[in-house]
Amino acid sequence: MAIERNGVILIDEEGRRSDGRKWDELRPIHIKVGVLRRADGSALVEMGKTKVLASVYGPREIHPRHLALPDKAILRVAYRMATFSVTERKKPQPSRREIELSKVIKEALAPALILDEFPRTAIEVYALVLQADGGTRVASINAAALALADAGIPMKDLVTAIAVGRIGNYIVVDLNDLEDKYGDADMPIAMIPVTDEITLLQMDGTMTPEQFDKCLEAAKRAILEIYDLQKEALRYRYLQIKKELMEEQSK
Ligand code: ADP
Repeated sequence: MAIERNGVILIDEEGRRSDGRKWDELRPIHIKVGVLRRADGSALVEMGKTKVLASVYGPREIHPRHLALPDKAILRVAYRMATFSVTERKKPQPSRREIELSKVIKEALAPALILDEFPRTAIEVYALVLQADGGTRVASINAAALALADAGIPMKDLVTAIAVGRIGNYIVVDLNDLEDKYGDADMPIAMIPVTDEITLLQMDGTMTPEQFDKCLEAAKRAILEIYDLQKEALRYRYLQIKKELMEEQSK
């Protein structure tokens, strides 16, 4: 039986989702690390039509100075949506949602960072959504973690994130905008894969405990898939740097 919400077929007769995916299928993911020359670290992450550019500056001096901490660096995160990232122009001034997501993303990243190596400094992370189609906070976390690694910030591990949810009795992984809006529940999750720590877990909608367990299990599988792609993109970046250095030396 197809599942329809607000006149939109979210699951068809064959159990396929609105974009033809199976319940646990991720959207195509593309990752590139080191895309901005002047930032200390940067990464571009595409999850389907959602596209986020993250850049990192620091560790560097803090302004205003009184915000400095004597024993560790402070982490600042700004999540923003470009005015052209959604069909109806988004107002440029930061919305409450953007301020809240900046905080949530910061809290998802912080446990992975070793901040006490850089007292009295700031590490600044910017996540700019270039195109939004659901899951922009998780794509921002995936991109920001890579940009931090690219900037050489010491980390326990990367942070990897995915949104899972429920449409009727179906658990769905990597929700698009339609599924996020009209589905029965959505749950973004971020983890530090190497320690199995969950650094973000939010939920909108309702689920039974069994559905929650299934969601968590599906999220963990998806996170390991994305983690492999993140590591591959970092490796590619290092090979690129090595090549550039060798070319410079041979000049
Ligand atoms: P997330 O992007 O992390 O899933 P939300 O659940 O708040 O965060 O948003 C879901 C989706 O709603 C976004 O990915 C985006 O596609 C859409 N959206 C968010 N803000 C706007 C906006 N101002 N205008 C149009 N669409 C928006």
